[in-house]
Amino acid sequence: MKYWNEKMECMGAEDMRALQGERLRNIVRYTYERVEFYRRRMDEAGVSPDDIQTIDDIVKLPFMQKKDLRDYYPTGMFAAPMDEIVRFHASSGTTGKPIVAAYTASDLDDWAEGVARCLTAYGVTKDDVAQISYGYGLFTGGLGAHDGATKVGCSVLPTSSGNTAKQIMLMRDLGSTVLCCTPSYALYLAESIEQDKDTDVARDIKLRIGVFGAEPWTEGMRKALEENLHIKAYDIYGLTEVSGPGVGGECECQDGTHIWEDLFYPEIIDPVTLQPVEDGKEGELVFTTLSKEGMPVIRYRTRDLTHLTRGRCKCGRTAVRMAKILGRSDDMLIIRGVNVFPSQVESVIMQMPEFTGQYFITLDRVNNIDTFDIDVELKLEYHSDSIKNINAIKAKLNAKLVSVLGIKPDVHIVEPGSIERSMGKAKHVLDKRNFK
Ligand SMILES: [Zn+2]
Repeated sequence: MKYWNEKMECMGAEDMRALQGERLRNIVRYTYERVEFYRRRMDEAGVSPDDIQTIDDIVKLPFMQKKDLRDYYPTGMFAAPMDEIVRFHASSGTTGKPIVAAYTASDLDDWAEGVARCLTAYGVTKDDVAQISYGYGLFTGGLGAHDGATKVGCSVLPTSSGNTAKQIMLMRDLGSTVLCCTPSYALYLAESIEQDKDTDVARDIKLRIGVFGAEPWTEGMRKALEENLHIKAYDIYGLTEVSGPGVGGECECQDGTHIWEDLFYPEIIDPVTLQPVEDGKEGELVFTTLSKEGMPVIRYRTRDLTHLTRGRCKCGRTAVRMAKILGRSDDMLIIRGVNVFPSQVESVIMQMPEFTGQYFITLDRVNNIDTFDIDVELKLEYHSDSIKNINAIKAKLNAKLVSVLGIKPDVHIVEPGSIERSMGKAKHVLDKRNFK
């Protein structure tokens, strides 16, 4: 099967815009009548539900941000009564209150639909054994992927994250063909398989497709995962505020992430002027949920930076494509006045086969100057090299980092295994400047 929902994934632009307009009209009226936040914001902006007729009218509506969701913790943003809510999830936010998301039965169905479309685009079928190694619980990764894989009809192996030795045993013994987890956990699994003397990737592991998301990852990471696990690695995109994983995913062309725009309407804006940005130009991604009942969002600013491409993809889908997200504006570090994304550091390290791919950035401020330290693991076989050779590798890494970042970090070569591995979303940065 090539498409999960050919009608929605391959719809002509005009029909899609008509459908989006109809759904926007409904969701605006629905939220205006049920949620004080939307009613107040629209009244303040002088917009009434009657002013929203087509999808082009969306620009009349005010934006919302993460702070709004926090301010209305825990239930202030819910649009459906509690007896229709069948599931909660919550963000992992380390500061302040979490964002609680609420889903009706219909929302869960649409969410699973989005994941099923992604899985089908990757080539997953009901004949696959899907190992879900995203964490189960409040995090949307585990149950989101689980429901989507169940909808497709896969044999689902709900291992959740962690307990890596058992993961590998079950992966081998039950013949998992699909692995769903964060890219950083996949990298750790690959490393653990290599160290497991009972398991040989080529002989014992049947994985063919990786479904990776929940954190930004680079093309270098993709290449490493594909080589180490003997798979094809695909990106799945989503966020709790909008639904969860499966807002969009790549197809076999891997030429951008198709967004399921009948369910989640994307816009790109200039984060400073808040004006729409034309297709192909980078800006901040904004989402409006077109069918959600439990906790819809309207013009939600994601802080993700990307651009959109329209037109039919080689795979046949017309669903708008978004460029791979390598930096959230939330993740951006400003070091000695220079903007640095951790993914830029990752892209350099992944290009050099001498390193395991694990890295950790520490920022501090000494005598009013930012310090920028990067620990990077040299593979075991290179540690036996002469000091001269190790210094040459370090110099090569330094030169590449300076050319990509425009700023010189202090690189520290460490032993393989010394940087803490992540079972879920990786932590790559400790910014001690925040504590001062
Ligand atoms: Zn495509």
